[in-house]
Amino acid sequence: MAKCPKCGMEVSTPRRSWKMAGRPFRSGKSTELTIGIFDHCRTSFRAVLPERQP
Ligand SMILES: [Zn+2]
Repeated sequence: MAKCPKCGMEVSTPRRSWKMAGRPFRSGKSTELTIGIFDHCRTSFRAVLPERQP
């Protein structure tokens, strides 16, 4: 879910999404971010998607 920067509406379904490795912590554990591309108001914007709980 991401907010459209133009109208402020929340768009729930990304057009495209992919996983990206985040910066590893000092402990050596790396994080994984899910990035999504959303379309609304004839514009597209990126947002980091929250981790899905198993
Ligand atoms: Zn919009």
